[in-house]
Amino acid sequence: MTPVSEHDERPTREAIIDLDALRHNVRRLRELTGVGELIVVVKADAYGHGAEAIASAAVEAGADRLGVADITEGVALRAAGITAPILAWLHGPQAAFGAALDAGIDLGLSSVAQLDRVIEAARDRPSVVPVVQFKLETGLSRNGAAEADWPELFQAAAAAEAAGLVRVDGLFSHVSNTSTVDDRAAAVRFERGVALATEAGLAPRSLHLAASAAALGEPSLRYDAVRLGLAVYGLSPFEPTDDAGRSADAFGLRPVMTLRATVAAVRRVEPGAGVSYDYSYRTSTATTLALIPLGYADGVPRSASNAGPVVINGRRYQVSGRIAMDQFVVDVGDDAVAVGDDAVLFGDPASGAPRVEEWAEAAGTINYELVTRIGPRVVRTTGERS
Ligand SMILES: *Cc1c(COP(=O)(O)O)cnc(C)c1O
Repeated sequence: MTPVSEHDERPTREAIIDLDALRHNVRRLRELTGVGELIVVVKADAYGHGAEAIASAAVEAGADRLGVADITEGVALRAAGITAPILAWLHGPQAAFGAALDAGIDLGLSSVAQLDRVIEAARDRPSVVPVVQFKLETGLSRNGAAEADWPELFQAAAAAEAAGLVRVDGLFSHVSNTSTVDDRAAAVRFERGVALATEAGLAPRSLHLAASAAALGEPSLRYDAVRLGLAVYGLSPFEPTDDAGRSADAFGLRPVMTLRATVAAVRRVEPGAGVSYDYSYRTSTATTLALIPLGYADGVPRSASNAGPVVINGRRYQVSGRIAMDQFVVDVGDDAVAVGDDAVLFGDPASGAPRVEEWAEAAGTINYELVTRIGPRVVRTTGERS
C-alpha cells in the first residue's frame, strides 16, 4: 500500500495561517512602534485569519490587549479561553453590555446614552465595575462622541466614576489616513478632548489614536497605545505605489495567510476554445487548461477575472476567463500541470507566492478586503506556508 503523502492530504481549498509569521510581526511591531501597549485587532475573525488561533498567538508574542468591533466577537474569544484584556468599540442599539460585563470585556463607548446603558447593566452585577474607554470623534464622521457632546459626556463619566459605578480607563479616536495634515488636525482635536476630560476630573490611563497606517507612518500619533490590525497580518496599509516604499517587506513584516487550492482538472484544448462563462478568454493556440476549485463564493473576486495571478509548480500564470462561483481556469500553455498540483493565489512573496496586493490591484480593491472575505468553504489550517 502506498502511504498517503502529506501533499495528498491537503484540503482542496485552503488558507494556511502561519502563526510563526504572526508572532514575528507582533514582536516586530513592538520594536517599530516602541509603544508600551500593543492592541492587536482581531475583529472580523482576525481579518479572516481565524480569531481564536490569532488571538492566542498574538498574546504569546506579547500583545497587551485585543481589539474587536462587536461585543459578540469578544465574548467568543472568552468562550475560547482567551483571558487577555479585550476592548470592544462598536455597539448597535441591541448591544449586549451585560454579556460584555460578564465576560470581562472593556467597552469603548461613544455617547452618554451608551454610558447609561452600561451603568444600568452593571446594577444587576454588584461585584462588577465596568471598565470603559471613550471614543472621540475627531474628523472621520463615524462613531465616537462629537466634540459638542464632550462636556456632558465627561461630566457624566466623572460623576459615575466618583460614585464607583465605572472606571474610565482610556480615551481614543481613529484617523482617516487622508494626509499627515488631516491626521495631525484630528490629533489636535483629540488632545482638546483629553484636556477637557482631565479638567472634568478624569485620569485615563491609555490614550490611543493610531491604527496600522498612523502607527507606522506618523510617530507623533502613537501616544500610549496603537491598535494594529492589518500590519500584524503581515500586510502594509499603504498603497503598493506608495512613494515612500512603505511595503510589508520594508517594515520587516511577513504575510500570515497563504491562499491555495489543489488543481481539480486538467484539459488539453484546441486553439479558439472558449473558457468559462461569456468566453471572455479564448485560447490562441493548442494549450493546457488547469481548473482551480476556488471562486467568488470563496472570496476570490470576480472582478479579477482574466487578471489575478496564480503560481503552479513554481511558475506564474494568470486567471483565464471569468472567475465563477466555485472555480476558475488557468491557461498553463504546454507546461506539465497535473490534477493534484498545488495552485497558490497569494501568500509570502519570499516563498514565491504572488502578493495579495496583486490580487487587490486586479480586483480594484485593497489587501484588507481580500483576506477578510475568504469564504466558509476554505479550510483554515495553521502551519508553515507551502
Ligand atoms: C479596524 C480598526 C483598527 C485596525 O485598523 P488597521 O488599519 O487594520 O490597523 C483600529 N482601530 C479601529 C477603531 C478599527 O476599527
